Amino acid sequence: MTIAIVGAGLSGLALARVLHVNGIGAVVYERESSREARGQGGMLDIHADTGQRALREAGLFDRFSEIARNEGQDMRLLEPDGTLLLQEDTPDDAPFERPEVDRADLRDLLLDSLPEDTVRWGHAFESAEDGVLRFADGRTATYDLLVGADGAYSRVRPLLTDARPAHLGHNFVELRIPDIDRTHPGLAEMVGRGTYWALGDGKSLAAQRNGDGTVRVGLSFYGTGEDWFSTNGMPLDDPAAARAWLIERLDGWDARFTALIAACDDAVVPRSIAALPVGLTWPSAPDVTLVGDAAHLMPPVGEGANVALLDGALLGLALAAHPGDYPAAVEDYEREMFDRADAAARMSARVHELLAAPDAARRMLAFFQPDRGRDAMNERSFRS
Ligand SMILES: Cc1cc2nc3c(=O)[nH]c(=O)nc-3n(C[C@H](O)[C@H](O)[C@H](O)COP(=O)(O)OP(=O)(O)OC[C@H]3O[C@@H](n4cnc5c(N)ncnc54)[C@H](O)[C@@H]3O)c2cc1C
Repeated sequence: MTIAIVGAGLSGLALARVLHVNGIGAVVYERESSREARGQGGMLDIHADTGQRALREAGLFDRFSEIARNEGQDMRLLEPDGTLLLQEDTPDDAPFERPEVDRADLRDLLLDSLPEDTVRWGHAFESAEDGVLRFADGRTATYDLLVGADGAYSRVRPLLTDARPAHLGHNFVELRIPDIDRTHPGLAEMVGRGTYWALGDGKSLAAQRNGDGTVRVGLSFYGTGEDWFSTNGMPLDDPAAARAWLIERLDGWDARFTALIAACDDAVVPRSIAALPVGLTWPSAPDVTLVGDAAHLMPPVGEGANVALLDGALLGLALAAHPGDYPAAVEDYEREMFDRADAAARMSARVHELLAAPDAARRMLAFFQPDRGRDAMNERSFRS
C-alpha cells in the first residue's frame, strides 16, 4: 500500500513526518531538483494552536524551539505619515505564542527528520489515473493513496474539484536588505527585532528581520488588477529603476519608509496574490485528498503555513488511526479540515479587507488591541 505525496512544502513534509513517527512509510514527489533549488523566502510566525501543535505531533517541537525566535514577534505599526501607533517588544520570558522561524530552517528541520530517499526530487507531477502517477519527464509510479500537497496552483486539485484560485486585487513586491546591521545600522535599529509595518492609502510596507541578518521588505498594492505587473510600467528588468518606481508610488509617505526601499539590493520579486473560494469542499474520494494551499489557498495574512502544517499532521494521525483503510481516514480528515480551513479563511479574508482600507493602520490597531484601537478611531473622528 503506497501513500504518494506530491509536493515537499510544509504540508507534505509534515504529513510524511507524522506518518513516519507512526511507523507508516510514504514517498514525497517534488518537482524541484534539490532542497537548495529555490530560496524559501522569509519568516513565518508559527502559532501555538496550529503550527506548533503540528510540530508536537511530528515529535519536532524541541528542535523547533531551538531555531525559533520569540523576539521576532516584536511589532511596530505606523501610519504613512510616520505616526507610530503601536510598539510591542516581546519580554524575555514571554510565552512561546507566535515565535518566528526562517521558512528555510523549518523546511530543513522537516526534511532532516525523514528517512533518506523519502523525498524524490526532480519529479514534476502531471497526472494520475488508475493508481498510476505520471511525471513531466515521462516517468511513472504507482499509488494507493495520492495526497496533493502541491501548493496554490496544485495539479492534483482538479481530480477533486474545478475550483481555481481567483486574483484578490492585490499585488506584492518583495525586496531585501542583506546584512542590514553592517550596511544600514540606522535602518536596522528602526526595524527592530521583528516586524516594522506601515499601512494606509491602499498600500502597505512590511519590513521584517530574518534570522540571517537580512531584512525582507514587502510592498503591497491593494485594489490592483491581475494584469497589474504587465501594464503598470514598473521596470522589473532594471532593479534600480524598479526601486525608484516604487518610491514614487509612496509619494507623501514618511522618508523613513522610502529609505528602506532605497537600501534594498537588486532582488526584486513580483507576486500576484490569489485565493480559493472560502469554504471550498468536495465529495470525498477514496484514493485522493489535498492538504495545505492545494486545499484552501488563503490571503497571505499569517495563517496559511500554520494551517498547512496542521493539515499534514492531522491527515497523518487519521491514517494512523485507520490502518490500511484510506477512505475512512480521508473522510475523517476532510470533515475536520473543511471546518477548520473555513474558519481560518474567513478570518484571513477579513484581515485582508482591513489591510486594503485607507485607514488600515488604525483598523489593524483596533484588530490587535480592541480598546486602544477604538480610542484611536474616536480620537481621529473627534479631531476631523
Ligand atoms: C508572500 C507570502 C507571504 C506569506 N507569509 C506567510 C506567513 O507569514 N505565515 C503563514 O502562515 N503563511 C504565509 N504564507 C502562506 C504560506 O506560504 C503557505 O500557506 C504555505 O507555504 C503552504 O504550504 P504548502 O505545503 O501547502 O504549499 P507550498 O509551501 O507552496 O509547497 C508546495 C510544494 O509543492 C511543489 N510542487 C508544486 N507543483 C508540483 C508538481 N506538479 N509536482 C511536484 N511538486 C510540485 C512545490 O515546488 C513546493 O515545494 C505566505 C504566502 C505568501 C505568498
